[in-house]
Amino acid sequence: MNTDRRKDWDTYFMDIAYMVSTRSQCSRRHVGAVLVQGKKLLGTAYNGAPMGVPDCSEAGCMIAEDYELVVQDGKETVVKKQRCIRTIHAEQNLLLFTDRIDREGSTVYVTDEPCWTCANMLANSGIVEVVFHRPYPKDTEKVSNMMKQKGILFRQLSGYEPPRETMMAVKE
Ligand SMILES: [Zn+2]
Ligand SMILES: [Zn+2]
Repeated sequence: MNTDRRKDWDTYFMDIAYMVSTRSQCSRRHVGAVLVQGKKLLGTAYNGAPMGVPDCSEAGCMIAEDYELVVQDGKETVVKKQRCIRTIHAEQNLLLFTDRIDREGSTVYVTDEPCWTCANMLANSGIVEVVFHRPYPKDTEKVSNMMKQKGILFRQLSGYEPPRETMMAVKE
């Protein structure tokens, strides 16, 4: 019988990523990412404006609109989407604030599935595994293909529940 009631490592590090995400000031999306080598935490980051520059809570979100092809029940529709482009994504901040040598062979836990740009950067950063929780369907196909080509383990944590105090509504 397993009497170890501690959280497994996946849950442990994803919980930390969610805690980190609460630092984000963007009202549209709170994303947290952590760098893990073995079982050691080597860095944390969230999405935000560059240091010293007004963030979304001060200056409001910087909204960009674009059109996206959405396939639902085999039917294609074009949907207008808004996203905030004020922030540096959590994954990119994580790369800016960690050392290459620490990233070699390490794992990134991130609350949300990386977008195409972040995935591309992660693929070139030395990391060997990406674990995410919330899906980001827009880029899933090209991101998972690229991760496969690159030989990076790319997996969604299923059956995971974030700590309740870290949850916020995500505007689509
Ligand atoms: Zn914002
Ligand atoms: Zn991104």
